[in-house]
Amino acid sequence: KTAVPSDIEIAQQANMLPIEEIAAQLGLKEEDLELYGKYKAKISPGVWDRIKTRTDGKLILITAISPTPAGEGKSTVTVGLGQALNRIGKKAAVALREPSLGPSMGMKGGAAGGGYSQVLPMEDINLHFTGDLHAITTAHNAISAMIDNHIHRENELGIDPRQIVWKRVLDLNDRALRNIVVGLGGKAHGMPREDGFDITVASELMAILCLASDLEDLKNRIARIVVAYRFDGSPVTVADLGVEGAAALLLKDAIQPNLVQTLENTPAFIHGGPFANIAHGCNSLIATRHALKLSEYTVTEAGFGADLGAEKFLHIKSRSGELKPDVAVIVATVRALKMHGGVPKNDLTTPNLAALRQGMGNLERHLETMENFGLPKVVAINRFPTDTEEELEWIRQWCEERGTSVNLTEVWEKGGAGGEALAWEVVRLAESGKSRLQYLYDLDQPIRSKISAIAQNVYGAEGVDYTPKAEKQIREMESHGWGNLPICMAKTQYSLSDDPALLGRPEDFRIQVRELRPSIGAGFLVALTGNMLTMPGLPKKPAALGMDVDAEGRVFGLF
Ligand code: ADP
Repeated sequence: KTAVPSDIEIAQQANMLPIEEIAAQLGLKEEDLELYGKYKAKISPGVWDRIKTRTDGKLILITAISPTPAGEGKSTVTVGLGQALNRIGKKAAVALREPSLGPSMGMKGGAAGGGYSQVLPMEDINLHFTGDLHAITTAHNAISAMIDNHIHRENELGIDPRQIVWKRVLDLNDRALRNIVVGLGGKAHGMPREDGFDITVASELMAILCLASDLEDLKNRIARIVVAYRFDGSPVTVADLGVEGAAALLLKDAIQPNLVQTLENTPAFIHGGPFANIAHGCNSLIATRHALKLSEYTVTEAGFGADLGAEKFLHIKSRSGELKPDVAVIVATVRALKMHGGVPKNDLTTPNLAALRQGMGNLERHLETMENFGLPKVVAINRFPTDTEEELEWIRQWCEERGTSVNLTEVWEKGGAGGEALAWEVVRLAESGKSRLQYLYDLDQPIRSKISAIAQNVYGAEGVDYTPKAEKQIREMESHGWGNLPICMAKTQYSLSDDPALLGRPEDFRIQVRELRPSIGAGFLVALTGNMLTMPGLPKKPAALGMDVDAEGRVFGLF
């Protein structure tokens, strides 16, 4: 048991500043903000025009080794490093994803950091926040309603009701909605057809919101979304339905970045949160760009391990948004390294140097990936209360022998003060000018060759196999003229391979692509290696069972 109180206790005792004061740290005035209460604001649309010609600050990408199911502390380190940079006198901001209610009510902790490195007001951020997810849900379902109405009214576009790929969405985990039938009840109630729900963060609109450079780009991307196919197999887009304007209108506020603060009053942009498997898993490009223009250092996070999150951050978000990270921070934990060394999940707190040694291959592979991309890097060991000095020292020596920069971070336990050494090292690397971002594939390579480049150079696979279905889909995509888009790999985050049980640094394996899905509005092709659930279910004891609110409105059980 540690002396650190629970996340919600720490958050409820925090000393928040009015959001105007946080904005002032970024050089923003009251008229630059749309206030959502005292502690939340959206940046007004006019601000971008004023700041867009400024030079960018440095961009720090936080990524991680292949995680345990509990998460290795990327969000915590992102927030903590932002705080630490401010403590050492730098002007820093963090840019993070906004959480989805589904996993919050289910089992994963909030996505607002942890311990003394959290973003605030965490209750709002983890619940309805500024309503972005509700807006996306509504815009998404408005398109669904237009599809069904179109079919009900003579179906001029010739949409094949069996080939509608635009499902409905809801920001909850609800397995009972995965497969449903709509349009029952007779002639006046629509055309019966199979449908289903995804969770809102899996909506292509979420990926679009996160990659769009402005409202016009957002609308153009929405127009390109493929919602269905005709009987002849040709695609039907949102533009064919004529509803891109309405969808963009519903998102006009949601597209503006949200500003909040950390426990130590560091500015935090929390905006957009796409899935990290069937989408690219990073906060919005707009938020990152605002942070880069308004601060000297922007600390941002990519979902899952470096094989997924960082790869997509670089190949998808950075490429389309012309971002150039200056340094990558790879978060590693003793417990995850031991798991990669073969220790069962319920025994990760027992000291075990042999397992640690065995598990280092996983970190090594991710380090090589960052080297392949040409990014300077530092390993941040996120210290847990159960780690022993011996284990921590062993990792440090391993990194030093390899010539890799390494730092212990204690930001969970101590806030920014626990990350100062890491902050200095990040500043040194960022200012070294050594970042030479290079992509591991070109967009004009054939689809298969792009997938192979990722599998071989990022996962360490021997090669890639395709199901007949995937092969057919690749041919179709190329014939539709979509072959030059980047690839969004949907793969388990637990292994470098596509088999979640293959931990550590697997060798001599191939990955299998089972299916491809076009996300033409977002601007990528999703390659699915396993069965990806886009509507999660609830566990046996959902986190919701522990939640409560008292007569005074005090919140309980939100982590
Ligand atoms: P990720 O972003 O990698 O999923 P998070 O930052 O959300 O991980 O952390 C996952 C959980 O682990 C959170 O509940 C957080 O409070 C907790 N946590 C993170 N770092 C530490 C640490 N050093 N010691 C104890 N708990 C931690």
